[in-house]
Amino acid sequence: SAKIGILSVQGDVAENASSLIASIADLNEDATVHVVKTPEEISQMDGLVIPGGESTTIGQMSLVNGSQKIIKQKVESGMPVLGICAGMILLSNNASDKVVGKTEQPLFDFLDIELERNSFGRQRESFEANISMDSIGISNFNGVFIRAPAISSAGDVEVLAKFNEKIVAIKKGNIIGTSFHPELTEDLAVHKYFVNLVKDSKN
Ligand code: GLN
Repeated sequence: SAKIGILSVQGDVAENASSLIASIADLNEDATVHVVKTPEEISQMDGLVIPGGESTTIGQMSLVNGSQKIIKQKVESGMPVLGICAGMILLSNNASDKVVGKTEQPLFDFLDIELERNSFGRQRESFEANISMDSIGISNFNGVFIRAPAISSAGDVEVLAKFNEKIVAIKKGNIIGTSFHPELTEDLAVHKYFVNLVKDSKN
């Protein structure tokens, strides 16, 4: 059965575990959910969610404990990854902050895209918006944006959704990123899509 991991350094780990477990049950799939941190744990996974949280912390810890290397190896050899908010920042090779400008922080460097952190403002500027990702069959999704990043330049990556002219969801092959937090809504569409992607890549 497929093993789906949630990178558990910091951030929205439990919420993603609940959404994945509910998605697997709804889809009636043969898959299990694992909270992972060490290179050994990550090496067993068939898919990985990098949750929202603080991208500098998650990136730094992953570098220090050696998991960055195995995550890179696995994603580059096709393991599906879903990067949410801070997780989407980590997918990129280039991040800056709306307020402080270019940031020096460890990134996984999967996508040649430019990320702007805190693109919609600070915590108190958090908001929800109706998001559609028609090319992957998801519409009217309630996007929860919390100190959310946006993509300022997407290169040859597929743009799944924009909000207020800003790119807020992207896909390239096995790699998906969202600015918003699907684990904070009842709608399981994004997690279900990811479970199917993991299942398909395993077959
Ligand atoms: N602003 C955070 C960062 O730059 C991301 C916020 C989030 O994941 N909700 O890491």
